Amino acid sequence: MGETVAVESSTGEFIAWAAFSPISQISGRVWSWEQNVPMSSELLKDRIKESIDAREQLRNSGITNAFRLINGESDGLPGLIVDQYADVLVVQILSAGAEYWKNEIIKILVEISGKSMIYERSDVEVRKLEGLEPRVGILSGTEIPDQIEILENGIKYLVGIKEGQKTGFYLDQRANRLMVRDYAKDKEVLDCFSFSGGFTLNALMGGAKKVTSIDSSGNALKMIGRNLEINIFDSSIVELIEEDVFSQLRTFRDSRRSFDLIILDPPKFAPTKKQVERATRGYKDINLLAFKLLNPGGVLFTFSCSGGMDTTLFQKVVAGAALDAKVEATILNRMGQDVDHPVSLSFPEGTYLKGLTCRIK
Ligand code: SAH
Repeated sequence: MGETVAVESSTGEFIAWAAFSPISQISGRVWSWEQNVPMSSELLKDRIKESIDAREQLRNSGITNAFRLINGESDGLPGLIVDQYADVLVVQILSAGAEYWKNEIIKILVEISGKSMIYERSDVEVRKLEGLEPRVGILSGTEIPDQIEILENGIKYLVGIKEGQKTGFYLDQRANRLMVRDYAKDKEVLDCFSFSGGFTLNALMGGAKKVTSIDSSGNALKMIGRNLEINIFDSSIVELIEEDVFSQLRTFRDSRRSFDLIILDPPKFAPTKKQVERATRGYKDINLLAFKLLNPGGVLFTFSCSGGMDTTLFQKVVAGAALDAKVEATILNRMGQDVDHPVSLSFPEGTYLKGLTCRIK
């Protein structure tokens, strides 16, 4: 499983070298399109180096010390995700091919990144589709702290790399979090699906009058509490609500609460195309409620990270929600995943995060 095989056309012409996944629906993941460049440690090393080099601008910008170093297929390394949090790397191995080369990958990562602490977070559902067991634990180094402090655009965050969501933080939303600051001054803000407070803290940094943050995970809200503390933000203007967003928005509607700025950053409702229809109803519902809760002139930052829903459909859903909420809205910005989550032109499926900033009249 995961061995390199030559993919050939029906007439026997060479197409690519690929990693073989006998169990997955995607039975081959391409390592190389060139017959004279088969899969090897050298190729792996070149690709890893190229990925890390491609983040040079972000790394040297002073914006952050946390970023995605390797973004799977789009970096020519299918099934491999590597995120850096200060001095620690967190790795996710998602395909049989990446699993096959795992030891080599770790060796090369230590050598090229100069980081010796590497933690594995291969505890994701998609591994099942490849016939791989979940796995977490130290891959390199002896002791790795449970929580790592990072700095992004002047805000500190504690990132729990060993448990919880993703590899600990939503790095893909970096630029969008920053943009929220510009719209927050003196505003009453509602951050839905707040997790550890990325948008909440940026709204505060932007001078929000008050921020209400909702997440169904008590742990996530505790993390916001700690992040408020380490940044010395005034926690008296932050209200944390542990609740299901769908029902909390209804509670707000019934009690006639309103906001100037609302952020909707839900989890994936539609990981694949099959779930799109059900997911569409979910997106429509929260966007409709959010439009209703906005004060005149209010702004909505709304996102979908569902790979199964494309940009056009997402915009249609948001438009339908505005129509049903009886508000007139315009699009101010279109947003996507940040620069360390590139999308290869030959792998458009790598586009998953899309967002709209809408302003109502
Ligand atoms: N905005 C965050 C990331 C959000 S991830 C950031 O920038 O860091 C999605 C979050 O939604 C998770 O924290 C998860 O706990 C929460 N969540 C999932 N379903 C929910 C629901 N129905 N109601 C409230 N929160 C939910």
